[in-house]
Amino acid sequence: MKIKKKKRTSLLYQTNVEYGDWCLNHIENCAHGCKYPCYAMMMAKRFGRIKSYDEWINPILVENSLEILDKEIPKYKDKINFVHLCFTTDPFMYKYPEVVELTLKIIKKLNENDIKITALTKGVLPEILKNFSPENEYGVTLVSLTEHFKTNYEPYAAPFEERLKSLKHLHEAGFRTWVSIEPYPTPNIDPENKIDALLDIVSFADKIVFGRMNYNPEINNFKDARRFFEECSQKVIKFCEQNNKEHHIKFGTRYFDNKNTQTLFNKK
Ligand code: SF4
Repeated sequence: MKIKKKKRTSLLYQTNVEYGDWCLNHIENCAHGCKYPCYAMMMAKRFGRIKSYDEWINPILVENSLEILDKEIPKYKDKINFVHLCFTTDPFMYKYPEVVELTLKIIKKLNENDIKITALTKGVLPEILKNFSPENEYGVTLVSLTEHFKTNYEPYAAPFEERLKSLKHLHEAGFRTWVSIEPYPTPNIDPENKIDALLDIVSFADKIVFGRMNYNPEINNFKDARRFFEECSQKVIKFCEQNNKEHHIKFGTRYFDNKNTQTLFNKK
């Protein structure tokens, strides 16, 4: 699909967000158009960068990303443990080949400079990633297996099966992989969804990240949502412990939180 383009003056930044170390967002907006709602879209609206959902689902490519990186990598390289793609958009919008192509060029450039990346998507991870640095880590988001949820909340993201298949390929090729079960909905939003079935289907991954849904008024209509999220968190932890997997429960999901969120990814 055709995509708008723009130029920017900077790209890499350091973040305190849970997945964080350094990050870059080489696309503005996101064609996946999740309706949980998407936090990045809410922020883009709040700061006046976009006015509507229709504007949000039209991605804009930062066409001079590679040139910016040529200047920024030497400046920041010594401070970077890894770069995460992306926090405010999706690096693998599967219906936009130009997005995927630029993402791959960026990963290649970072890896050539001995910088590890982590990438999270609701799109499809291309097979060619197998040829990139073995240090890289890849993840997909999967919070439900129901068509009802996909249609209503992730209308333009890749089908579940395709996301998982692409992740499994990379896992089998020896890469560290993770699944982000976030933002997990309450049963009034997605009645057929079952955390056990989800855990079962993503059990090949090395790590599971679990987090509750926020910012959706329907959550407050579910009696005892906090208890529900605590029970789900316990199931995730138990599953991971029994199956020798890493886990991370996102801040704000459990009754009592551990604010130490620094171990989500291996540092270089
Ligand atoms: S894929 Fe991520 S950034 Fe894109 S709309 Fe969905 S939640 Fe927002």
